Amino acid sequence: MGFWTKYFTQQIFGNWLGGHIWSADRTAQYREYLKSDAWKRKRYVVLKRDNWTCQYCGAKATQVHHKRYAKYKIGKEPIKWLVSLCGACHKKQH
Ligand SMILES: [Zn+2]
Ligand SMILES: [Zn+2]
Repeated sequence: MGFWTKYFTQQIFGNWLGGHIWSADRTAQYREYLKSDAWKRKRYVVLKRDNWTCQYCGAKATQVHHKRYAKYKIGKEPIKWLVSLCGACHKKQH
């Protein structure tokens, strides 16, 4: 199984299984999500898409920023809502 097939299968089943478990406390949940393998995989896909380049200044990207968040289901964000950034530009976004 190739990387992409694996990635999308995990995305679909991960969201489907995870959807019911998550409840109200979004901040704590997000903190947990950022530690998860699902996030690490997604983050990697975004950095790869953007060629490890900061989308604001062109420096080497080391971080991934959420332009927006899924309303109900954490981790459901499509990768087009995510952007690769360097540390300095990421700080400016928050
Ligand atoms: Zn930058
Ligand atoms: Zn951010």
